[in-house]
Amino acid sequence: MAENPISPTIPLDQDGVFHGFLRLPYSRDDSAWGSVMIPLTVIQNGPGKTALLTGANHGDEYEGPVALQELAFLTKAEEVRGRLIILPYFNAPAFRAGTRTSPIDRGNLNRAFPGRPDGTVTEKIADYVQRSLLPLADVAVDFHSGGKTLDFVPFAAAHLLEDAATQEACFAAMTAFNAPYSVQLSEIDSVGMYDTAVEQMGKVLVTTELGGGGTSTARSNAIAKKGLRNVLIHFGILEGELQVEPSVPLTMPGEDCYLFSEGDGLFEIMIDLGEAVEAGDLVARIWPADRTGVAPQELRAKRGGLLISRHFPGLIKSGDCVAVIGVPGLPAES
Ligand SMILES: [Zn+2]
Repeated sequence: MAENPISPTIPLDQDGVFHGFLRLPYSRDDSAWGSVMIPLTVIQNGPGKTALLTGANHGDEYEGPVALQELAFLTKAEEVRGRLIILPYFNAPAFRAGTRTSPIDRGNLNRAFPGRPDGTVTEKIADYVQRSLLPLADVAVDFHSGGKTLDFVPFAAAHLLEDAATQEACFAAMTAFNAPYSVQLSEIDSVGMYDTAVEQMGKVLVTTELGGGGTSTARSNAIAKKGLRNVLIHFGILEGELQVEPSVPLTMPGEDCYLFSEGDGLFEIMIDLGEAVEAGDLVARIWPADRTGVAPQELRAKRGGLLISRHFPGLIKSGDCVAVIGVPGLPAES
């Protein structure tokens, strides 16, 4: 396979604190020999485990970037055992544009794995991480939120996997993250996801959905920072005591957890995030955008549980995800 054109401007394997970039050559109208510069910090101190820490995999999700900027700025080499590889702006062009996908190629980085060394900008970023950074890592923490179009109750998540040992290690790391909710996920669309790339390499993945709406809050940023620190302590990379509070376990067992819009219009949510619903309860209504005197479309829960995600903007389109219901408790043993 072709060599990837990305080069780090700092060493990846020397003791100390290094702030630099992954430089990706990108020739274009406003910069003939220009580059995409992806900020990178590497902090290493002797032997130990390596954590690969990523934010802004989607460019409009902000808790990860905030927590990772602070970690990169404050952490001293002597506080670390092993290595931190920190990419606060994983899809840097998308982050700079404030959009979910890249403005250069419309690439959704979390559907671009394993990537291509000779592909688009987004595919090149995926290929570099797949072949050059992930092999160095023991654990990957990848921060997500709802972005501009969804909002979530704050949760960390781990996937059901074929490999029992990897699954157990992922669930232990999710538990260490200790978000207010802990979700066991089986993805409906896992092809091309970074998560799948990490897990197929037998590495531990912690992923999150910490909020949304295209911003972060004091509370969601505090959850990100505490969870990150807890995971790094769990792997022996940072020293300290785990901060542990109660976390509600949730599963999303099937298609009936998801509600999708079948019309356009004015969005009215009828219950708020974290509230309980029964099957048949009204979750949202969609009013016509162009007239009065017409009944709204009603969206009712297909099963009981808690509202864990909702459409965020005030307008909605046909096909948009309206709401997700999570089911409290651990899954029944099968
Ligand atoms: Zn995301």
